[in-house]
Amino acid sequence: MQFELTEAQRAVHDTAFRYAEAELHPLLARMDDEDWFPEHLIAKLGADGYCGLTAPEDLGGAGMDLMSAGLVAEAFGYWNTNAAFIWGPHENLCLNNILRNGTEDQIARFVPDLCAGRRIGALGLTEPGAGSDALGSMALKAVRDGDDYLLTGRKMFISNGPVADVVLTYAKTAPDLGAKGISAFIVETDTPGFSVAQSLTKMGWRGCPTGELVFEGVRVPARNRLGAENAGVAVVMSGLDIERAFLALPYIGAAQRCLDLSLDHAATRRQFGKPIGSFQMIQSMLAEMATLIDAARLTAYHALSACDAMARGEGGRGAIHRICAGSVLFGAEMIAKVTDMAVQIHGGAGFVWETEVNRHYRNARIASLGGGTTEVRKLIIAEELFRARGLSLG
Ligand SMILES: Cc1cc2nc3c(=O)[nH]c(=O)nc-3n(C[C@H](O)[C@H](O)[C@H](O)COP(=O)(O)OP(=O)(O)OC[C@H]3O[C@@H](n4cnc5c(N)ncnc54)[C@H](O)[C@@H]3O)c2cc1C
Repeated sequence: MQFELTEAQRAVHDTAFRYAEAELHPLLARMDDEDWFPEHLIAKLGADGYCGLTAPEDLGGAGMDLMSAGLVAEAFGYWNTNAAFIWGPHENLCLNNILRNGTEDQIARFVPDLCAGRRIGALGLTEPGAGSDALGSMALKAVRDGDDYLLTGRKMFISNGPVADVVLTYAKTAPDLGAKGISAFIVETDTPGFSVAQSLTKMGWRGCPTGELVFEGVRVPARNRLGAENAGVAVVMSGLDIERAFLALPYIGAAQRCLDLSLDHAATRRQFGKPIGSFQMIQSMLAEMATLIDAARLTAYHALSACDAMARGEGGRGAIHRICAGSVLFGAEMIAKVTDMAVQIHGGAGFVWETEVNRHYRNARIASLGGGTTEVRKLIIAEELFRARGLSLG
């Protein structure tokens, strides 16, 4: 395994890093303090070439590989994790999934607007009664009615859900078939019967609207079904692998920011007549933070480059499934420890809401929950380990 970034990839990161410092960082305090959603954000990112990074240029995208898109996510995470998690669901969960699974017609109708930031995207899998068991317990139904489907049910915890124009929505088309009876739909939220039940107030990711969505007989044309009927599980599973690989990157950016802030603080804050950075117990934390970040970064780059090599329709089982789950599992453990040590190094100031390390500390809590919990990630890894050795647990 070798993860030397190419010159082009380094340039992508550096350009995005400077962009995020200038354009995203200034939004952070208001987003976190006031739970303010910057309405212009996706339109601005689209206009500035940061939406549709993996989409072809003739659709308005940037034609990048997933690895380069991940480097942008890392840069955004460094300067404003909250903004990164408005952009990420739009860019990766919605746009990239439509791109990977859509027909030519679907791609032509939806991807250019998402690339330009004219429309905001989201992905709806989780439901009030279907979290970790998202597929088995899914209750939202899609019933065929002529050339349309009628969608009825609820989705829960949907990032960008309250502000989205397009929601990639999973629904049961054959409830008796369990996970094998799921289909994916592109739902336009101005369709009658769609509404937002609530926008949630969260301890972190503030300014990123997360909500409960209601579908009351929402009429969706069959031409908006993504993939074959009852084949939604393949869309979910390959999408989840890429989501997990991608999700780790903003956490790595955020952790790097916490390390840099902690180094600056340790060099300038003086106690007992010396900078606190001269105390070996502070140095120990800084060394541990840096090593955890290095390890998480390598793991994440490995997962992303594996996803880059994944053919359309692949994923959802095998080594890639394990590697992606492992990347976000370790990324989540890393960000929890790194933000905790950053707060510790900042002393009482780290407990204050408006310090940047405190914002990161609160944001970090989602890392072991979103996109599948730590426990679910471990289940995936263990299952794939047994499978790889041809062992069955009955
Ligand atoms: C801020 C935020 C944004 C989100 N964005 C989206 C989004 O954009 N789209 C979307 O579809 N979803 C989204 N989610 C949903 C997220 O993916 C789910 O919250 C997550 O999958 C867990 O589901 P749950 O909350 O229902 O927890 P539950 O499934 O109820 O789990 C509760 C606890 O039980 C544990 N548990 C469950 N089953 C097992 C088991 N078999 N073995 C061991 N432990 C188990 C879990 O690990 C967890 O600790 C978001 C969530 C949040 C909080």
